[in-house]
Amino acid sequence: MPTPTRSLLALALLALAGHGALAQKTYLHCGRLLDVRAGRLLTQQTIVVEKDRITAVQAGYTAGGPQDKVINLENRTVLPGLIDCHVHLEAVPGRGSFAEQFTLNPADVAFRAQANALTTLRAGFTTVRDCGGSGVNTALRKAVAQGLVPGPRIYSAGVAISSTGGHMDPTDGLSDFMMEKLNPGPAEGVANGPEQCRQAVREQFRRGADLIKIASTGGVLDLSKDGTGAQYTEEEIRAVVQTARDLGMPVACHAHGAEGIKRAIRAGVTSIDHGSLMDAEAIQLMAKNRTWYVPTLIAGKSVADTTRRHPGYFPPVIAAKALNVGTQMQGTFGRAIKQNVRVAFGTDAGVFRHGQNALEFGYMTEAGMSPADALRTATLNAAELLGDTPNLGTLEAGKYADIVAVEGDPLQNVATLTKPVFVMKEGKVYVGAGN
Ligand SMILES: [Zn+2]
Repeated sequence: MPTPTRSLLALALLALAGHGALAQKTYLHCGRLLDVRAGRLLTQQTIVVEKDRITAVQAGYTAGGPQDKVINLENRTVLPGLIDCHVHLEAVPGRGSFAEQFTLNPADVAFRAQANALTTLRAGFTTVRDCGGSGVNTALRKAVAQGLVPGPRIYSAGVAISSTGGHMDPTDGLSDFMMEKLNPGPAEGVANGPEQCRQAVREQFRRGADLIKIASTGGVLDLSKDGTGAQYTEEEIRAVVQTARDLGMPVACHAHGAEGIKRAIRAGVTSIDHGSLMDAEAIQLMAKNRTWYVPTLIAGKSVADTTRRHPGYFPPVIAAKALNVGTQMQGTFGRAIKQNVRVAFGTDAGVFRHGQNALEFGYMTEAGMSPADALRTATLNAAELLGDTPNLGTLEAGKYADIVAVEGDPLQNVATLTKPVFVMKEGKVYVGAGN
């Protein structure tokens, strides 16, 4: 026999259910809708959005009750929110960037990162993988997820890890005095030998990182003289990968030179980011191991262009590396895509201005990738790399309502992706109608 309390509870539940049924839905009327799986456009479709999710995609223009909202995108092409798998939200390009560790406070970096996040979201990128910063990136991820500040959904690597004198050693090129004063260790992302590598991964894990970022070769934008040589042994990379795997974290590996790329692939990293000087053997190894390739072509173009156009912008040691590495990335990409390497979209935004991420599509298609494939790298493939295909990557019922619209046909002209006229993330509009 039901007690009075139970009856009241049942009534309350009924009331809640009724309220749910009346919750406002948004009907997006899409003149053209990109089916990223098939790589083709459907015409006259309606996406139904309830709270943060897509609940249906229907043929024709449909509508709900008087309480529901309609957004007219009948003259637009609608596509899934874009995903950039390699950004640095804390960073901005600039001559003074090498001095920033001595001039900026964490709060300065945090406000800047928040502004960069909003710029990125408005450019149509509703999800990003932040491949390394000071740890502000992980705090920003929390703030965005809590709805405190607007920004793309963030997967954060926290502080990236490299060897002493390696790409992420913050004391590269400083005086002996500063090196000894700062003396970075595993907690600051400088680790040598398998034992310290394991510790460095655990340090990032306890600070809340979603993934681990390492450098297996030198890099361009640091003050050491070599940008391509191997900087970790295979044993060290393996220690990183195994520890990260135990803790449920994938490993993104910055790598330019072929030897460091091969060691990282053999050690089992999830993605090779940049991959600038891959030779035929590295490309084959990558295809065989199904390692993701995150090409960041725009970063190579941008540092090489800046070096040529603005003599003195970079210190000489960096200028030489930028011209060598930056000019080879697109050619490597053209060779790799012919060998069925799995590609996920990534730009290295922060090396160039945030918000210009979609220029990468132009560089990808220029190197021979079809627009449909290029769009797949930033949607389906990126969702797979992030391990979140149930929620991201397509416009289908059950997924997050992360929705972008552009003018024209991006399968004909990818440049239109650089000017989104509508951006929705989790059902909330940030650009265009209803904003
Ligand atoms: Zn990077």
